[in-house]
Amino acid sequence: MRYLKLLLIFVLLSFAMAPEMKLKRVAKDIYMVRGVDALPSVENRGFMSNAFAVLTKEGWVVIDALSTPELSKEFVDNLYRVKKAPIKYAIITHYHPDHYYGAKTYKDLGATIIAHEKLLEFYRSGDAQQTLQAQKERFKGLFDKVVLVPPDRTVKDRLTLKVGGKTFELISMTPAHTNSDLVVYMPEEKVLFAGDLLYMNRIPFMGDRNASSKGWVEALRKIRDMDIKVVLAGHNEPMGKESIDFTLGYINFLRDNIKRLKEEGKSLDEIKELLKNNPYAKYVMYDVFHNANVFKIYTELDMEE
Ligand SMILES: [Zn+2]
Repeated sequence: MRYLKLLLIFVLLSFAMAPEMKLKRVAKDIYMVRGVDALPSVENRGFMSNAFAVLTKEGWVVIDALSTPELSKEFVDNLYRVKKAPIKYAIITHYHPDHYYGAKTYKDLGATIIAHEKLLEFYRSGDAQQTLQAQKERFKGLFDKVVLVPPDRTVKDRLTLKVGGKTFELISMTPAHTNSDLVVYMPEEKVLFAGDLLYMNRIPFMGDRNASSKGWVEALRKIRDMDIKVVLAGHNEPMGKESIDFTLGYINFLRDNIKRLKEEGKSLDEIKELLKNNPYAKYVMYDVFHNANVFKIYTELDMEE
């Protein structure tokens, strides 16, 4: 009896904790859902990233696929409540699970899936399947329904899509957060869908094995030259161009300090300790990502020398 009571409390709590998906209109014809600031878990259903959709005269163009087919299905149900129009294109900003794993929902609805050519390479090499297997083990139950799909079209440098009166410029920004980063720019609206390249008051994740802090800095300089009014990224509320300075500030802070301390002959552990109290420690995801970022840049600087 006591066990049952505990179980009931646990079930009620996990319902209370599961973040609700709420579609928000962020500009004319542009919608988003906002995931929580956390690592994926069964409790948050892996809903810890954003997805976006643009309504055109021909139908929807969606950007990113969330972590699971359950989540992307719920996202589409929300879109259909705004307008029951076909999902024409689904653009995947990079190969991370929280942006890619829900893609099959779109495919089943007839959408053309577009991603960087490196994502297709990742899929074909078998690495994608292996990563999924590892994620299934690590987060028991969360990714059980995930079926990976390859992109139907790929981008090497740049691709311009005209859909139902709207223009989408897909631009490669690799290597940066990963080796498969795409941003999507709408020139008339001056909106940039930035994937995981831009943040405000949140620590970026630079620990991916294909990440490059040097390439990321270059990507941010390119983005700075673009005429942008609104930045819509994978893990923040809508932002402005100040997000470029925030992200660049953190990356350069790490690169400059780690470089200096390495030249002084400090070890990785000493560097971690010396950089412990820093102005970024108060920001979201710092405890989860910061040390991984220090490690990544430390090893990256070895290669640059
Ligand atoms: Zn990512």
